[in-house]
This record gives sequence, C-alpha cells and structure tokens, in this order.
Amino acid sequence: MAMLVNLRNLLEHELEDLYSAEEQIIEALPVMAEAATDRELKRTLKEHLRITKEQKKRLDQIRKMFKKEAVSEENNSSGFLARMFGEGGKKCKGTEGLIEEGQKIMAEEMEPAVKDAAIIASCQKIEHYEISGYGTARAYAKELGLREVERLLAATLKEEYTADKLLNVLALNKVNLKAETSGGTKASPSTAAGRRGSASKSAPNKTASKKGASKKGATKRAR
Ligand code: ZN
Ligand code: FE
Ligand code: FE
Repeated sequence: MAMLVNLRNLLEHELEDLYSAEEQIIEALPVMAEAATDRELKRTLKEHLRITKEQKKRLDQIRKMFKKEAVSEENNSSGFLARMFGEGGKKCKGTEGLIEEGQKIMAEEMEPAVKDAAIIASCQKIEHYEISGYGTARAYAKELGLREVERLLAATLKEEYTADKLLNVLALNKVNLKAETSGGTKASPSTAAGRRGSASKSAPNKTASKKGASKKGATKRAR
C-alpha cells in the first residue's frame, strides 16, 4: 500500500481492514450457526449475521462519503477506495486467523455442548478483534472531525459490544454449564465438591447479571 503519511491514511487502512473482516465474518457465521446445537446460540449467531450485513453497509456508506470528498477535493483517496471496496482489497489476516482457529477447533470430535462452548469462544475472539478495530477507527474519525463517519463507526462498535455480551451471558448461564457435565464424565472429587459449592452460591443467572461479568472471557466464570 502507498505510504501512510497521516492519521487520515491510517483511518483508511483500518477501514480497509474492517471491511475485509466483515466480509469474512458474513461467510463464517452461517457455518458456525449450522455447527451450533443450542437453539439460542443458533439464533444469536443468525441475528449477528443479519447485523453484520448492516455493518458492512455502514462501511459502504463511509465509502460513498469518502468518494464524494475525493471527487470534490481531488485528493489521493482513490487508491484506497479501490483497495477497500474493489478487487485486490487486502484481506484482514487477523480475522482470517481467528476464523481459521475456529474452524480448526470445530473440526475436532466434540460433545455438542462442548462444541457450543468452543463456538462461543471463537466468536468472542472475533468480536473482541472487531471492538478493537472499530474503537480505533472511531477515535481517528473523531480526531479528524469526521462526525458522520464517527457516528457510523460508533453504531457498529455498540453492536459488537452487544454481541459479545449476549455470547457471554449465553456461555455463563447455560453453555459452559452444559459442557461441564456433558459426556457423563465426572470431575475429580476435589474440584467437583468445589464446583458444587460455588454453583449453589451463585446461581447461573446471578453470575451473568453481575456487573462487569460481560467484560470477562466466557471461560472465566465469575465466582
Ligand atoms: Zn491491515
Ligand atoms: Fe462486525
Ligand atoms: Fe461482529
């Protein structure tokens, strides 16, 4: 890519990355929804697919705004626009890697509930990556005084946080617990006793409704 000389260029680079991320996620989510067993999880993933398509549209909107600007100012954004939205756009390797990791674990032989837990973990990694990317892009847009761009990016950022939170609640309230007892394997006596104690103290829905619980990884159960 051409030399990045300022924050505007860096924003363009980040948008290019996010566009590719959303495209890849649109491809990956139906596969994950298909692999999921829990109906709520399936529904959540399908709903996020719908939302993700809207997020891609927001990036298209930003593209139109930048295009207009490029025409009126004859600035050098056309190369970026071609890369971001045309062929030869750079693939977001971060998302590619996260999706690949998800596919790898899903290919393992697993109990359905364990697979559901693994799917949630993979999706949350992707959400966190997106949260990071959109957070950065929004901050740049704000700094550059691109208020409409900032607004669009903030809307998507909020949705990514919500998706992460929904997955977290699902994991903490249900899927992790199902995975814990699936396959009929008993935990070792010491941990089983400990778990039982903590489980009765913190009922699942209590655990998830605790403030800040959503910020924790799905596998780290609040105690
Ligand atoms: Zn990049
Ligand atoms: Fe997204
Ligand atoms: Fe997302």
